[in-house]
Amino acid sequence: MAGRAYKARKLPADAEQNGWYAALPDPLPARRVEGSVSVDFAVVGAGICGLTAARRLGELRPDDSVALIEATRVGFGTSGRNAGFLLKGHSHGGEKDLELGKSNDRLCEAGLEYIRETVMHHQIQCQWSDWGRIYVASGAPGETHLDHLAHGLEGIGTEYSTVDQEEMEAITGTRFYSRGIRADDGALMQPAALMRGLGATMPANVTLYEESPVSEIHRGDGVRLVCAAGEVQAKQVILANHVFAEELGIARFRVVPITLYASLTRPLTPEELPLVGGGAEFGLLPSSPNGSTVRLTQDGRILMRNTMTYGRSKRFGAPEMTEALANHREGIRRRWPDLADIELDGTWGGILGFTRNGGIVCGEMALGLHAVMTTDAAPLTRGAAAAKLLAEQICGHDSALLQDLNRLPKAALLPPDPFLRMIVNRRLHKNETEEAGEL
Ligand SMILES: Cc1cc2nc3c(=O)[nH]c(=O)nc-3n(C[C@H](O)[C@H](O)[C@H](O)COP(=O)(O)OP(=O)(O)OC[C@H]3O[C@@H](n4cnc5c(N)ncnc54)[C@H](O)[C@@H]3O)c2cc1C
Repeated sequence: MAGRAYKARKLPADAEQNGWYAALPDPLPARRVEGSVSVDFAVVGAGICGLTAARRLGELRPDDSVALIEATRVGFGTSGRNAGFLLKGHSHGGEKDLELGKSNDRLCEAGLEYIRETVMHHQIQCQWSDWGRIYVASGAPGETHLDHLAHGLEGIGTEYSTVDQEEMEAITGTRFYSRGIRADDGALMQPAALMRGLGATMPANVTLYEESPVSEIHRGDGVRLVCAAGEVQAKQVILANHVFAEELGIARFRVVPITLYASLTRPLTPEELPLVGGGAEFGLLPSSPNGSTVRLTQDGRILMRNTMTYGRSKRFGAPEMTEALANHREGIRRRWPDLADIELDGTWGGILGFTRNGGIVCGEMALGLHAVMTTDAAPLTRGAAAAKLLAEQICGHDSALLQDLNRLPKAALLPPDPFLRMIVNRRLHKNETEEAGEL
């Protein structure tokens, strides 16, 4: 068999902040890849996709060995950096193809249910709740998006109810929002805690290696993965390292990397909780692309997520972090002026992949080398479903859902940089100027 080598041009950095991760107790020391390890399957990357693929391989092939290899620590990467919405029945309102929208939704539902079953079975402590979500608007641009979004929800059959300004104020303590629409399905959670819990409850035949970035992949007789202090030889490999796959030359220019930023406050005091509606948790998704995702968590913290930049560098530079921090503070001030100066326990960036056609990156890229990358709307739940189904496909299990997945279009090719960078920056700038009030 002709061999081929893939060498990583860039690896995840481990010095960045992640407020959710910082709120957890210190993890146990990492088991690293050392010396020579031989397994049936290896999964690279322990975000939601890698954790799900490894779990499913372990379940379906109890007599085979699975190595799950993570560059940093489980929960530290993007899957532990997000806003914590596990979505189904979700729509941006832009679906041109209704059948495709419904297929996507079936996948999201399957992903959500697989995660839910695992959390309930292992009693993973991750602030899980079935609160659902409210899509919100604060002014005219947001209201227009909200109507469009409602139309999208109707298209895929998601039930929702309208929330007026008074009800929004009762829930959140602020009159910032002019209107919302509430959908009850979906879940909220603490993402770093969920990922750590998933990593700690793998089937017995799955071994988790952390602090072991894979710098080279050699394909020949099976697949050989090179880490700093050792190597893993596997019959088959699933690459689940998200946008870092392109650094290995896989799925290049299929996904637009967008950096999103978030901040988490310290827990509010009992005196402060009445300012945010009394202290019962909530989760708000913006209808405007320039809006903020906002949560009040079960432990009484405000999560503020806004600001987007082009993320090809996969690093979060000082100017971008400063701008994001200022926007998060402004977001808090506009909603709750009395909390404008509240201490933040963390501000961080993470990368979300978008495709130009709502497509997917999932399947065999070369003999024995598979990849799954989650993108676009509802990436945690759709990504979990895709990773689970890819593992099932590798093990020879067919299903109606797998056919749904394989019917989705492949992520379309994008223009290279600097063209893509220019197009994205122009779009982000337009959103920022025309919809500044929604921040
Ligand atoms: C601020 C923010 C808010 C978001 N909010 C939501 C939300 O509410 N709901 C939702 O559904 N989605 C949300 N997302 C998007 C979602 O978090 C991501 O799309 C998803 O987590 C990606 O999962 P993944 O498993 O594909 O990749 P990742 O979570 O990025 O996992 C890939 C893993 O691979 C590791 N890795 C990379 N290279 C290597 C290598 N060479 N060797 C070994 N390991 C490697 C990385 O360290 C990483 O841990 C949000 C994203 C951000 C940034």
